[in-house]
Amino acid sequence: MRRRKNNSSWPIWLLLIAVVGGGIYLYNAPFLERNDPTVTIHGDAYWNLKEPLQVRIDDQSGIKRYKVLMQTSAETVELASEEFMEPQKTVQTEVSAPKRLLRLKDDTVTIRVEATDASKWNFLAGNTASEVKVLRVDTKRPMLSRISNSYGIRKGGAALVVFRAEDENMQEFYVETNFGKRFQAQPFVKEGYYVSLIAWPVTEESFRATLVAKDKAGNITRTSVPLYLKDAKYRERQLKLTEDYLEGKIAQLAEDYPETQGVDGRIPQFKVINEDVRQANEKLIHDTTSKVPETMVESFNIKPFYPLKNGENLGGYGDYRHYYHNGKEVSVAYHLGVDLASIRQAPILMQNGGEVVYVGYNGIYGNMPIVHHGMGLYTLYGHCSSVNVQEGEHVEAGTVIGKTGTTGSVLGDHLHFGVLVQGVDVRPQEWMDKQWIRLNITEVMDSAKQFIARQ
Ligand SMILES: [Zn+2]
Repeated sequence: MRRRKNNSSWPIWLLLIAVVGGGIYLYNAPFLERNDPTVTIHGDAYWNLKEPLQVRIDDQSGIKRYKVLMQTSAETVELASEEFMEPQKTVQTEVSAPKRLLRLKDDTVTIRVEATDASKWNFLAGNTASEVKVLRVDTKRPMLSRISNSYGIRKGGAALVVFRAEDENMQEFYVETNFGKRFQAQPFVKEGYYVSLIAWPVTEESFRATLVAKDKAGNITRTSVPLYLKDAKYRERQLKLTEDYLEGKIAQLAEDYPETQGVDGRIPQFKVINEDVRQANEKLIHDTTSKVPETMVESFNIKPFYPLKNGENLGGYGDYRHYYHNGKEVSVAYHLGVDLASIRQAPILMQNGGEVVYVGYNGIYGNMPIVHHGMGLYTLYGHCSSVNVQEGEHVEAGTVIGKTGTTGSVLGDHLHFGVLVQGVDVRPQEWMDKQWIRLNITEVMDSAKQFIARQ
């Protein structure tokens, strides 16, 4: 009896397990998934009605159909709709406003995306997501106009441009060049006006500068900066590596630098120092001198630089140096400053105040302070025997910041004087020339100031 009773209860347990198990299975089955599709509409909060809007929809069980609607104050327009035979896990689409609405006067439009998935949930109807995003309409291009600029620019040299840029929803503006570098501008005198120093690197064959302003809705305005291009001849110099230099300076530097550890032979050591170490040293210089302040420029009274009193200018800016050993070229490099020589350990004098942004031993440049004079104009002083100033310190014109020496990759005591504009090496001779500064910087700023004062 007992046994039979037991036997007869089996099917009930089995049925219960089957029902509960089946229920759990169905509850978790992909075709009964209960999650709404996820909808992403456009990354930005602004729209110029011209650029297509990005819409992305994702769903576990697949999207069966979707539509994208645009609501204005007057109407609702369908921008896109699709129904899929084969449900899609991801739909990525671009939608555009109809041409007739490009002149819409509304401040905002509402984009609504409705998407239904292929789930059998909801009595076979599936899950429907309805996502709404309000976009601010901005169809106006930024206002951009050039106020004044230097008449020309010399290869390897610098120039100045003053312009006006305004937009309610400004995203960014800058001076674009033909070689990829963007020069940033600094506010100048009055709201909406900007000034920027720009530079033509000695390594670039041509130069072109364009003012660019972009707003958050994607509207862009471009204005070219008319500059008379002046070529400059830079020398190709052939330098013989002497045994004195290789066995003296190079032997000593090879011991000091981590890059030359394990490198045997003076010529391979020289190559590593002149190429790898130089590259790292120049990267540090360019990184340190790329920044431009965001504060308003009221004036920029830069005076000619002559860091060594009675120093002889050995020149050399822009030289392309070919290094020879036993009649064979072993390395090449650009020389990006001028060499000034005087007595040994001659005092280095500042003609312009500024902020000391770097002091340290920088490989082939030896002990090297860098000073920022404002507007992204930097000067550097290489091979110093001693430096009297500290990073972060403000120095006044008339300060002796250090003494010349032979630190780094040099033989004789001299000063390597470099000038940089937003991380680009420029001709120091321009910034040592009173006439050049007056014509290209001071007068350009003065005429811009006069123009702005009349506005
Ligand atoms: Zn030099």
